[in-house]
Amino acid sequence: MEEELFCIGCGAKIQTEHPNELGYTPQSALEKGLANGEVYCQRCFRLRHYNEIQDVSLTDDDFLRLLNELGKADALIVNVVDIFDFNGSLIPGLHRFVGDNPVLLVGNKVDLLPKSLKRGKLTQWMRERAHEEGLRPVDILLTSARKSNEMAELLEKIEEYRKGRDVFVVGVTNVGKSTLINQIIKQTAGVQDLITTSQFPGTTLDKIEIPLDDGQFLFDTPGIIHRHQMAHYLGKKDLKIIAPHKEIKPKTYQLNAGQTLFLGGLARFDFIQGDRAPFVTYVSNDIDPHRTKLEKADEFYQKHVGGLLQPPRPDEVADFPDLARFEFSIKEKTDIVFAGLGWVTVTKPAVVAGWAPKGVDVLTRKALI
Ligand code: GDP
Repeated sequence: MEEELFCIGCGAKIQTEHPNELGYTPQSALEKGLANGEVYCQRCFRLRHYNEIQDVSLTDDDFLRLLNELGKADALIVNVVDIFDFNGSLIPGLHRFVGDNPVLLVGNKVDLLPKSLKRGKLTQWMRERAHEEGLRPVDILLTSARKSNEMAELLEKIEEYRKGRDVFVVGVTNVGKSTLINQIIKQTAGVQDLITTSQFPGTTLDKIEIPLDDGQFLFDTPGIIHRHQMAHYLGKKDLKIIAPHKEIKPKTYQLNAGQTLFLGGLARFDFIQGDRAPFVTYVSNDIDPHRTKLEKADEFYQKHVGGLLQPPRPDEVADFPDLARFEFSIKEKTDIVFAGLGWVTVTKPAVVAGWAPKGVDVLTRKALI
């Protein structure tokens, strides 16, 4: 019998058969891992090589235990989400776990969205989306963890709502939670030396404890990995490309029915039916959308993926999943969201299809902009 292997990142049992399931690693990567004694599942490997600050990744059981702790505590819960990947950064069922504790919703990476966008409109949009998920935050705030001058308001709000209690900061990986915590530490002078870690009961998860003035603590909790994020399907270099670094410049395309837009080789958008209309792409400025005819699009993709259509890079095409298709009938201004990559805004009624690597979500939401 073959020896069972476990990912040294998240503890999942390693398997090479099912790319969209826990513990998947391509056979070639497994062999390399065995040779140097470090076997990771694909998603841990990729996140690990992408992020400088490595998050602890969680098994589902551990994560559930962590969430249960939140319900038992008497605390303010600060839920950090990535405003560029809002759907990908929601924690499913969070509202059920927090109990009576208030939730402060923090939309991070606001620097990526066009500056022309009014903050009030954005927080209102976040409130509606949170309510759809059953989450009723006491307040909603936008931040950019990269900018130290954005922290004052966050710290004020935390003080306002915690009312002398502990604070738990929660979020899925890659939303910028570590960056944010580091900023908080920097602003709370002298605290740096006092940080300790301790474990959540019944888990192997460390929380970081940052003492607050009145003897309470701010706890940084490990981030859960969101399985539908594009990040799990890409190499390090490509991740750098798909994750926008600065304000995204929307690009508008006037399309006729029967036209297709490729977002590199990562995603595809088909305009199937409807009047000629503008479509707006919101993706990293490093990804060039490519327009072609719908009837030729399959063939075009086969021929050009890894070449004209990058990412993925040529050496990654073999391991790159096929694109899966989702069709939508659109009635009003709607975003077609490719989890973690960005979105295309459909401005008029239309029938469209969004394609993304198998396992990555394509979904619709009320247009953000
Ligand atoms: P964590 O996994 O939630 O702890 O996320 P990290 O703090 O490691 O951040 C993930 C990535 O997002 C890193 O590449 C950060 O540089 C980037 N990042 C974090 N905060 C911001 C922000 O406010 N704006 C932008 N543009 N990028 C950010």
